[in-house]
Amino acid sequence: MDFNYDPQNIFAKILRGEIPNKTVYENDHALAFEDIAPQAPVHILIIPKGPYMSLDHFAMAASAEEQVGFMQAVAEVCKIAGVEDGFRAIANTREAGVQDVPHFHLHILGGRVLGRMLPKA
Ligand code: AMP
Repeated sequence: MDFNYDPQNIFAKILRGEIPNKTVYENDHALAFEDIAPQAPVHILIIPKGPYMSLDHFAMAASAEEQVGFMQAVAEVCKIAGVEDGFRAIANTREAGVQDVPHFHLHILGGRVLGRMLPKA
């Protein structure tokens, strides 16, 4: 698998401060912000600060420190979002996963019952 990161993607622009965002949480390795088109009462995106295209790219290439920092952001976002009753975490990946923005992002969706994971084919 050849991971070819495009630094002009919209989340890279958010990380560089070129596009505004509604920040929910930030640490040295991750940024969490409100999705611009929320699909549930809670819809937060968590992204690593490093140039990783997808979950598998991040898992293969990010340092242990970056991975820990990212997961700490997940923990903090879940606390801030108040999703004790449950939530869904989604990482759409490449064509088959219908990933629109080629910078790894974890969707955290909650605030209502979300239904089954996938519609029946
Ligand atoms: P995906 O299909 O997993 O790549 O989802 C990309 C997500 O990014 C979608 O839910 C969009 O609504 C969201 N999005 C796109 N542009 C922005 C932006 N400028 N700020 C916040 N969220 C965005």
